Amino acid sequence: MKLVDGYGRTIDYLRISITDHCNLKCYYCTPFSGRSHLERSEILTYEEMLNVARAAAAIGITKIRVTGGEPLVRKGVVEFCRMLSRIEGLKSLALTTNGIYLEEMAEPLFKAGIRRINISLDTLRPDRFEKITGYNWLPRVLTGIKRAEQVGMYPIKINTVVMRGINDDEIADLARLTQDKPYHVRFIELMPTDSSAYGDYETLFVPVEEFMEKIHRIDRVQIEPALDSYGPARLCKLPGAVGKVGFIAPISWHFCSSCNRLRLTADGKIKTCLFSREEIDIKTALRTGATQNEIINIFGQAVANKPSGHHLNAKDHQPDCQRAMRAIGG
Ligand code: SAM
Repeated sequence: MKLVDGYGRTIDYLRISITDHCNLKCYYCTPFSGRSHLERSEILTYEEMLNVARAAAAIGITKIRVTGGEPLVRKGVVEFCRMLSRIEGLKSLALTTNGIYLEEMAEPLFKAGIRRINISLDTLRPDRFEKITGYNWLPRVLTGIKRAEQVGMYPIKINTVVMRGINDDEIADLARLTQDKPYHVRFIELMPTDSSAYGDYETLFVPVEEFMEKIHRIDRVQIEPALDSYGPARLCKLPGAVGKVGFIAPISWHFCSSCNRLRLTADGKIKTCLFSREEIDIKTALRTGATQNEIINIFGQAVANKPSGHHLNAKDHQPDCQRAMRAIGG
């Protein structure tokens, strides 16, 4: 079955944010005013999330990504992934993490069905890692990445948000992680958010062309114009490299026309666009005994209302999108 929105886009991808908690305080992600957490009772139970996932799969969602906050801080995440992996019709189950708990959790997650994993890593320098995230845990992330590889996760995508004067001089070093390893290192444009970075956004923002140019300078590397089949990244390979380098530019290139995703927030809302304030409540239905068909109808309504695109650009940034970002968990 195919789920098609009002603009002819096939919607087959659902991100589930399982928690609003995180164990890092990334400069560009943590809200300027500090993090306030949802009441526990506001957060969907795993069973409620599974109900949504089953309804989604029944009408055409084939890929689910588990995210947060930081998904690995929520107790029971491994069992939740195992239950997700058993849903009929799902072809791909992925997870996005900061990697802090990956050393100990990679194997159980793999056994529970997680194959594809995205790991955030903005720097290879311990002092910078601490400056960006608030914690001196770079070695944990690096060990976590290795462990994910050892247990057989593939592909391992490393997400790097590029910030001027903070880590933009590490683009080549991070790209070289792909030389001997089958990793995909993806450089991402900074999005304007209501984090501590917001006041400096114009200074920190590096347009994708600039980081592509830095990669191109490494041996005249050619960058493929085509979209990667699993996301909005343009790709290239360093000479002789095993892995790939990708570029994601939510600001410079809007990929809305090929957007295939929906998000379920930890507190039970469906979001049809990362940058939209629109959300559709599904928690009330879940908690008042809705049938699977009723859940499917809510889903269908969300898809029908998916906007054609967002209007975010670097010059006209709005801090509100961080709220959306947090709510949906990346
Ligand atoms: N905790 C997990 C992690 O660290 O990957 C999942 C949630 S995190 C919000 C998802 C992704 O969003 C991370 O790769 C993070 O770097 C990215 N992100 C957060 N704030 C961002 C911003 N202002 N601009 C660009 N990417 C951002």
